[in-house]
Amino acid sequence: MEVNFPILVVDDDVVSRTVMEKYLHKAGFEVISAPNGKEALARMDEQFCPIVLTDWMMPEISGPELCRLIREKKTDRYVFIILITARDSKTDIVSGLESGADDYLTKPIHPAELVARINTGIRILKLEQSLKNANEEIRLLSITDPLTGCFNRTYLGERFPQEINRAQRYSHSLSVVIADIDYFKKINDAHGHHAGDLVLKSFAKCLMGSIRESVDWVVRYGGEEFLIILPETASAGVTSVSERLRRAVSNLKVSHDGKEISVTASFGGACLYFGQKGNQGISMEELINHADEQLYRSKNEGRNRVNVVEVMRPVEKSR
Ligand code: GH3
Ligand code: MG
Ligand code: MG
Repeated sequence: MEVNFPILVVDDDVVSRTVMEKYLHKAGFEVISAPNGKEALARMDEQFCPIVLTDWMMPEISGPELCRLIREKKTDRYVFIILITARDSKTDIVSGLESGADDYLTKPIHPAELVARINTGIRILKLEQSLKNANEEIRLLSITDPLTGCFNRTYLGERFPQEINRAQRYSHSLSVVIADIDYFKKINDAHGHHAGDLVLKSFAKCLMGSIRESVDWVVRYGGEEFLIILPETASAGVTSVSERLRRAVSNLKVSHDGKEISVTASFGGACLYFGQKGNQGISMEELINHADEQLYRSKNEGRNRVNVVEVMRPVEKSR
């Protein structure tokens, strides 16, 4: 079985350790070894070793004690531990497994059995990885808008309050922009719902492509309304980002049925500042409402434009 990590062998006896290393190398595994529990833990901090083979009888930290210490560590991935013991009484085996070992081998080590037990561990680790991947995929689906690939409101509700708290804690600015496609209903009416969907996708892509990667983020807030969250961004920044987005959108050409559909959008921004005294928070909804009022102005002033407001909140500086 192919693996891309080393196997950690822990044994105070240099002869047993060398024998095990030899068997494992022969079976094609990369090996790291440690003469005691303390060094084993240090190796694990340095390098990802999800399979550990440890001797039972060792001075200072015994094999079962090492199992306990590994389980206490909050590792990202599961660690499959095999205890190696000269003791094969049932009570010893039970206490070894209870200390957190997944499996055991009795001395003298049989090379084919050693490799078979390691392969069992690899199978379990692979299952764990595929479960983890599936969970991540589900998580991603649960926070993503399926049509546009932007974040959805579930994610907004999780992350935006955190961004507001962080801005407040460090007295940093934080901005939100609401973007709404102009006369989108007319696009649907003139070209059909499918064309409308294409416009939505291109619009979202245009927004996502025009912001700072992995800092700013875009949420599909409603049908053709999107929020752009801009951490650490003051009002001059919001105005220039919104203007850049507005221009990029107005240059969009969406091809559908041999025709090119043009589109514009209106923008409303709110920039949150935390000043000096007092301690007054702001809710996510309140901040979005401020941006929405500016969007309303942009629509009323003729659409395809940007309006931004500064929202000042006092905050206790001593924290
Ligand atoms: P305004 O300039 O004032 O924003 O006008 P508008 O036509 O863009 O706004 P209005 O709110 O009247 O219409 C929004 C339209 O967006 C109505 C709705 O059918 C359409 N819409 C919402 N979600 C979707 C979607 O997922 N796909 C498509 N194709 N249309 C959608
Ligand atoms: Mg609209
Ligand atoms: Mg709308």
